Amino acid sequence: MAEFYHHGELLSVMTTQPLGRALDYRAPEGGCHAGAFVEVPLGPRKVMGVVWGPGAGDYDINKVRHVIRVLDAPPMREEMREFLLRAAAYTLTPLPAMLRLATRAPGLGDPPSMRKIYRAGDGVPSRMTDARQRVMAVLEEYGDLAFTLKELSEMAGVTSSVVKGLVDQGAVREEESPRDLPFRRLDPSLPGKALTEDQAKAAAVLREGIKSETYGTTLLRGVTGSGKTEVYLEAVAAAVQAGRQALVLLPEIALTEQFLERVEERFGAKPAEWHSGVTMTERRRIWRMVGQGNAQLVIGARSALFLPFQNLGLIVVDEEHDTSYKQEDGVLYNARDMAVLRASICGAQVVLASATPSLETWANAEAGKYRRLELTSRFGPAVMPQMGAIDMRQAGLPGDKWISGEMKREVDARLARGEQAMLFINRRGYAPVTLCRACGEQIGCDQCDARMVEHRFLKRLVCHQCGESKPMPEACPSCEVEGKLAPVGPGVERLGEEAAALWPEARIATLSSDMYGSARALKAEIAGIAEGAADIIIGTQLVAKGHNFPKLTLVGVIDADLGLTGSDLRAAERTFQLMRQVAGRAGRAEAPGTALLQTYQPEHPVIRAILAGEEEAFWAAEAGERRQAGVPPYGRMAGIILSGSDAAAVFDLGNHLARHDAPLRAVGAQVFGPAPAPIARVRGRHRVRLLVKADKGVALQEALSRWVGGLRLKGDLRLAVDIDPQSF
Ligand code: ADP
Ligand code: ZN
Repeated sequence: MAEFYHHGELLSVMTTQPLGRALDYRAPEGGCHAGAFVEVPLGPRKVMGVVWGPGAGDYDINKVRHVIRVLDAPPMREEMREFLLRAAAYTLTPLPAMLRLATRAPGLGDPPSMRKIYRAGDGVPSRMTDARQRVMAVLEEYGDLAFTLKELSEMAGVTSSVVKGLVDQGAVREEESPRDLPFRRLDPSLPGKALTEDQAKAAAVLREGIKSETYGTTLLRGVTGSGKTEVYLEAVAAAVQAGRQALVLLPEIALTEQFLERVEERFGAKPAEWHSGVTMTERRRIWRMVGQGNAQLVIGARSALFLPFQNLGLIVVDEEHDTSYKQEDGVLYNARDMAVLRASICGAQVVLASATPSLETWANAEAGKYRRLELTSRFGPAVMPQMGAIDMRQAGLPGDKWISGEMKREVDARLARGEQAMLFINRRGYAPVTLCRACGEQIGCDQCDARMVEHRFLKRLVCHQCGESKPMPEACPSCEVEGKLAPVGPGVERLGEEAAALWPEARIATLSSDMYGSARALKAEIAGIAEGAADIIIGTQLVAKGHNFPKLTLVGVIDADLGLTGSDLRAAERTFQLMRQVAGRAGRAEAPGTALLQTYQPEHPVIRAILAGEEEAFWAAEAGERRQAGVPPYGRMAGIILSGSDAAAVFDLGNHLARHDAPLRAVGAQVFGPAPAPIARVRGRHRVRLLVKADKGVALQEALSRWVGGLRLKGDLRLAVDIDPQSF
């Protein structure tokens, strides 16, 4: 049991306020435990905090105030406090900011109550007024989120009667939310699928791990469709059976209805779901249920890692190589690495599942730090797709067309057999560049160093960096000549247009996240496609992950070279993973699949490795290059990102730091830069990056703290540390 503080005893409370340290208070009447969520006075305000430990006594003892009240929430366990401390130390994040990630449940501590909630309905209002339009726009913007009446009417700037009117018309749904209703119990004893020999072996190893009640990490590698999910659900069953909680992390876009239904089928009840589409009220319910140990299984996006599990026995990180596990805003952390940290503190097992593991994980497995399990073949009759290249130098296409004759014939053949084909391009919007043919200007974002991308579907130009958008102009913003703006290059919408012209009879579904009003609409579309509602699927990265299209037998990659340009050392790894992932979509059921890559560089080593399916050879070569360069996973790296509205001041600070690098040199670390950051300007702020490189054994965080820790930042200058940056 956690330490108890009697009324009046000195204790310290960590709040989420940016103070950097815990403050002393006196225990309230009735006392409180370490870890309790409390409300404390801070100056004239009341703020929320967590009882962190005994008081430091470094403050005038007569002035120490009392904790106002203990909130009605399960106390934070010691292992959670330890996790936050170590995660903060690893990422060089102030503890209050880390704590904020763990307290993201609104109304934490208030007793549960019933409320009506509102979300988008299916009806169409008979009359569309401006006010109604605003309500619908809010619902559309927030996708699946539900609101209270007050939230929704305030956000739309309308009276509540406008919302009520829409409810009457069925355009808005009104629901009673059964908030703190407990989750239905999962039944881990239900039989799963009859496993193949390979699968059963892997599942047995994972079950053993759970039984050991100790920490351990396993890489579960297997091609798409080999049954990794089936296997790790066995580990979930074992954990639940042992009375422990389980967490499955997925990239946000792989968190589909399809997946949740599959889990429900396996365990006879729905798991808790945690991601950005979950309503505020539902969040609070889940947070409490997890904290009381009443949610046995959570399926969530990366932030689910900070839920208050009482008895965590297993964390699965599916698609562990996925770059979306790295949070790039606010606290910069990699959920995969933090999962391993959290599990090691609470004695849980970790399963990292992927068809194409990250080089980091691959190296840890090679070094024996992670156990390694392999599923070598696809389940059932499905076999790996045949891979082929289409040499675009021979295709003779005009500059505004991207589907080669050979690709067209292949698609034709699938259509004739009643199968599905997919054309993949990793670019949202209509065209990546909008060029003025009068003056040569390429329309850029006013806020960022990025080009504006035309989205014809939205009739707008959109900046993919900062989200800024504006109506598509008639005239060039630079020379003001009208009618000369031209799209250059392909985006998914433009590819859809080309396909529609080539196959006027076919049912074509273009899948891109921004073409759907809500996550729900998109999920419905995907479910329809899986059942055969489309002949040709045109898609971005969105379709590369997790979805199961049984009738799909051809995947055509329109521009396989796209990821290979640029100087990023991780480019090869990314391209390799993405191409393998996309190709894996083809031929998951009875019909064998084919994946065709359109490329201008068929002899490029990465393209050749993809075509030959030489995974081990590819990784070994890639590992060799990284080792040679002394970069992760064979060396350590950190980025220092400086930002501010005045470019010169940002660079001055960068140069100052680069010159005063004694703490780094003391440990043999090198600093590179300052150079413009990979995203050089965001929302009007200039960004500059310094890269630090050190040997594997160096205590990099300590050196970085000594280097930039005490720095006083003038004006609006900001500094962020990015441990293990995604690009270098
Ligand atoms: P992965 O996670 O490796 O992509 P899945 O676990 O999703 O693979 O399996 C691919 C498909 O094969 C799924 O539809 C799954 O239900 C099915 N499947 C895999 N293993 C079995 C099995 N042993 N028995 C029946 N179906 C299976
Ligand atoms: Zn922008």
